[in-house]
Amino acid sequence: MPSPAPSGPHEPVRSRPPLLDALVLGAGVHGLCSAFALRRAGLRRITVVEAHGPGHELGGSHGRTRITRSSYDRPRFVQMAREAHARGWPELEAALGRSLRIRTPGLFFGPPGPFDAYVAATLGAGADVEPLPAAAARARFPLLAVDDGEQALLDHTAAMVLAAETMAGLRAWLAEHGVELRWQSPVRHLEVEDDAVVATCGDERLRARCAVAALGAWLPRLLADGGPPLVPLRQSVGYFAVDAPAAQCRAPAFPVWARIAPGDDGFSYGLPDHADAGLKLALHRTVGRADALDATVPPADPQALSRLARERFAVPVRGLRASERCLYAMAPEHEFTIAPAPVSPRLIAVAACSGHGFKFGPVVGRIAAELALAGR
Ligand SMILES: Cc1cc2nc3c(=O)[nH]c(=O)nc-3n(C[C@H](O)[C@H](O)[C@H](O)COP(=O)(O)OP(=O)(O)OC[C@H]3O[C@@H](n4cnc5c(N)ncnc54)[C@H](O)[C@@H]3O)c2cc1C
Repeated sequence: MPSPAPSGPHEPVRSRPPLLDALVLGAGVHGLCSAFALRRAGLRRITVVEAHGPGHELGGSHGRTRITRSSYDRPRFVQMAREAHARGWPELEAALGRSLRIRTPGLFFGPPGPFDAYVAATLGAGADVEPLPAAAARARFPLLAVDDGEQALLDHTAAMVLAAETMAGLRAWLAEHGVELRWQSPVRHLEVEDDAVVATCGDERLRARCAVAALGAWLPRLLADGGPPLVPLRQSVGYFAVDAPAAQCRAPAFPVWARIAPGDDGFSYGLPDHADAGLKLALHRTVGRADALDATVPPADPQALSRLARERFAVPVRGLRASERCLYAMAPEHEFTIAPAPVSPRLIAVAACSGHGFKFGPVVGRIAAELALAGR
């Protein structure tokens, strides 16, 4: 679909639909957080348009939990995490009237190689993170395999984000505050008029003074030049039972963690057991051939997940309890784009995934809303 075209002066004036204050395209975490920030900024006539239903499992925002951390390989992400932890999440929790994070230590570690940049950037940015010798990491977190010669960071800012509760809480808050949530309404066309952005869903045209396009991996379809090239990569996640007391598998005894080693399959991560689902484990797959976006999603490969579990857990693995698939929209250098689309400052493009965007949801939403308000 070509980029949205401005409507020409000679266009016959069709009976124009009413002008909304704002449109948000996509109800993943970035769309919902943008709508939240726009509503908090005082806009009232806001419509969120989503191609699927609430909590659908085809994008990048479903699933029980996510990691938040300060440990990063670039100072700008350490800084962004600082804002998310100090302001973004506390504001969202206050508005939703509940905690959305379970505090637990973060353990980030790896052999010499790409992990060196994490150590330098994180400690260099003064985050509340400390180096931890491999032996101390093993003693503190005996369920995890940490090899001699690996460096480790103990991240005191980390937590397990309750992703499903965050998404459900945002949907409820938006509905309670008069924001229209339109499900099963795929936007098939976008255009820009003098004073509005127009999204066509089915036969209906929705017009708004500004719009945020937070369409995840689908962004390039509606906004070809609105953002970076995105590669959709499906991920496989497993939930495991291991040979250890239940309490040792839960926060705060069990950390959120990532092992960052060289190679395409060098980045693995996991989270504590939450709600008896088992220990969450996955590879952070950032390279590979693009996956088809609208195809039936094949199930995860249980053998591959179990192999990874045997490598990463230092105790016997009793079994794979469940697995799920989820979608990354990989951008070059895993960087984020939150910017006005070239066609109009009223239309803000959001591409903030690359497998690490959830923790920044409240910050991404605030930035997108501010840009939309400035551009309308
Ligand atoms: C397995 C996995 C683990 C992850 N772990 C972490 C973690 O620990 N920490 C972290 O910070 N991040 C993590 N992430 C990344 C994070 O979850 C994503 O970056 C984030 O959820 C992306 O949100 P989004 O709103 O940009 O995209 P999405 O959630 O994909 O939302 C885009 C929405 O747009 C809708 N849409 C598309 N086209 C149209 C259309 N034409 N009309 C209307 N709607 C449309 C889609 O249906 C979708 O709902 C993980 C991601 C995955 C997949």
